[in-house]
Amino acid sequence: MTSLAAWDELLGSVGEGDELAHLATEPAREARTAPVPDTLQPPLREALARHGIEELYAHQSEAYEDARAGGNLIVTTGTASGKTLAFNLPVLDALVADGHARALYLYPTKALAQDQARSLGELRLPAVRTAIYDGDTPTERRRQIRGWANLVLTNPDMLHIGVLPRHDLWGNFLHNLRFVVVDEAHVYRGVFGSHVANVLRRLRRLARIYGAEPQFLLASATIANAGELAQALTGEEATVVEDDAAPRAERTVALWNPPLLDAELGLRASALGEASRLLAGLVGRRLRTICFAKSRKSAELIHRFAAERLDAATAARLAPYRAGYTPQQRREIERRLVEGDLLGVTSTDALELGIDIGDLDCAISVGFPGTVASLRQQWGRAGRREHGFAILVASEDALDQYFMREPPALLERRVEAAILDHANPRVLDGHVAAAAFEAPLDEGDAATLGPEALERAPHVPELRHTARGWVWAGKDTPAARVPLRSTSPDSFLVVDASSGDVLGLAEQERAYSTVHEGAVYLHLGRQYLVRELDLQARRALVEPFDGDWYTQAKKETETSIEETLRVERRLGLELSFGRVSVTEQVVAYQKKAAADGSTLETVPLDLPPTTFDTEAVWFVPRPHQLEGLEAMPLLLSSLHAAEHSLIALLPLWAMCDRWDIGGLSTNLHLDTGAPTVFVYDGHAGGVGIAARGFDQFEGWVADTAELLAGCPCEHGCPSCVQSPKCGNLNEFLDKAGALTLLRRMLAT
Ligand SMILES: [Zn+2]
Ligand SMILES: [Zn+2]
Repeated sequence: MTSLAAWDELLGSVGEGDELAHLATEPAREARTAPVPDTLQPPLREALARHGIEELYAHQSEAYEDARAGGNLIVTTGTASGKTLAFNLPVLDALVADGHARALYLYPTKALAQDQARSLGELRLPAVRTAIYDGDTPTERRRQIRGWANLVLTNPDMLHIGVLPRHDLWGNFLHNLRFVVVDEAHVYRGVFGSHVANVLRRLRRLARIYGAEPQFLLASATIANAGELAQALTGEEATVVEDDAAPRAERTVALWNPPLLDAELGLRASALGEASRLLAGLVGRRLRTICFAKSRKSAELIHRFAAERLDAATAARLAPYRAGYTPQQRREIERRLVEGDLLGVTSTDALELGIDIGDLDCAISVGFPGTVASLRQQWGRAGRREHGFAILVASEDALDQYFMREPPALLERRVEAAILDHANPRVLDGHVAAAAFEAPLDEGDAATLGPEALERAPHVPELRHTARGWVWAGKDTPAARVPLRSTSPDSFLVVDASSGDVLGLAEQERAYSTVHEGAVYLHLGRQYLVRELDLQARRALVEPFDGDWYTQAKKETETSIEETLRVERRLGLELSFGRVSVTEQVVAYQKKAAADGSTLETVPLDLPPTTFDTEAVWFVPRPHQLEGLEAMPLLLSSLHAAEHSLIALLPLWAMCDRWDIGGLSTNLHLDTGAPTVFVYDGHAGGVGIAARGFDQFEGWVADTAELLAGCPCEHGCPSCVQSPKCGNLNEFLDKAGALTLLRRMLAT
């Protein structure tokens, strides 16, 4: 039986009719090729020939020529389109031609750097001396690598703390630095991206001090704003290479919505159950399938449910796949998949970043993974050479349900933009200090660090102005104080009490609502229970947790407008963007049953209020837009429901998580003197999320109105107006009122 016949048979037997929200086939595409350039160094040409590469894809050749012409570039072609070769060609060519030239490759994770180092090694180019320089590199090896290697792979954290502050040890490397490669550039967004943008500026500045002007070659998943991202990350213009010339097999895409069990409440069957049904059906028909779930627990449940549906012999050919496997274990699973011994794998989305697990027939994504880029990467696992099948099984989340009703929003529109704000003072100040530590800062540095850095210098404690410029007067290394994944230097450490391992950081402004005592905390797909939150030591002690409830914090929020930066007449009302101060107090939390979201217990908490400054977009509806909604509590409920659904859809426009966004709606705000809706950036100082909402307001509101209009529930449900992070525990929500307001805005 062909895979297509097996697929058709599956759809005929598994579905009851309504689950299939959309079915589309993306056509196969022929490759557009270009000859291997004559200008390429002979050893590199020979290495390509040894690997059977006799011609290039057109975009690879374009990237090579653009890089040779001397500019920066960002390659943003599709998954598995040979982006790596596109940036490797100009770099390797330069390293072969010039024994002094150096290149630095940045990867967001150690595993990805290892994969890249391995494939570079396979080219067997004697002139290319590749080495990984990260936290695992033994001290005695480090000096040797700095002197010997001409292609160094590292990560932003190591560059930030280990390389730049010790630039004197890297003088020769920096002096000869020709290329900086930033792979997986779309990962550098939000808080992390805002920091990395400063790290790259510091690198440019030091290279310049040592007499080098490296070219930046970036590669990114497909996003709406590749050129803008490259500029934001490096501070320089970049050519965008986006015309994908790689061949593509035909791919069938299915959007799968678990059946509606209770239309009035908007209650649907479990996405995990549906996914296990599909997985068992595909594997039972001998289609090799990978299934991505959001948490390890979900992945394990899907694996177990699917196995229960299959006979013992077939069930033995299913395996879970986790982050943390050694390269040997990964290759063992890959080999078993390639040889057809394994038929099905369930995984958390930790696998999504670039690591190659071979060609499969089908990929199932359980729940929208947060960005279209991630979804495309997951789907890209299926059918690289032959007809592939990709399925998104929707969760009850509002964005998932929106996609089920508006498939073109997912499959055709490219609206998601990777955004960051390197100039956020909460992020920038630490890097200004780090830069001053690295070399005295003066006006000339505005060219690399940006004028904002010089403006901030007088505000950074421990910087002294001297004849040589701003210098660091502290005793320690300032970079070590600046974590790249947080906007507040006084974040809380999250520590696993059983092992003593540090799991991560919780920013002060979110610690009280996410790691309060008794909270269920999710980290890399695993659940933990917070045993203790120590406010003095700024530490949350957690332990692995296997219970079947989750928690939701109840909090009181106030905002005050600090400075209005932009005001425009949009959608018939006054839309503002500016800086606000947000004060939150977490007063209690609820334990909720994982099965149905019912409340098990409400537990009071005694925590101090926290205040942070951030950016917000806000609007004051005009009286005619609120006609008939003026009575309380209808007014508040309508605004509150509008706020929630707007927050649910903002990640469609700005690559972020709804947990990165906060909101407040009030029937009377002290600063505006009127009913007001605020949507604010959840990170102190802001990373550009609210600004994107301001810029895209019309499209954002239109999408939100469609979301509300299309939801089949009667009075609001988790798929439209309810929010899993509402500080008011989803009280006072009026779906109809919100829709009326948004429609009136759009009608003006
Ligand atoms: Zn609904
Ligand atoms: Zn709310």
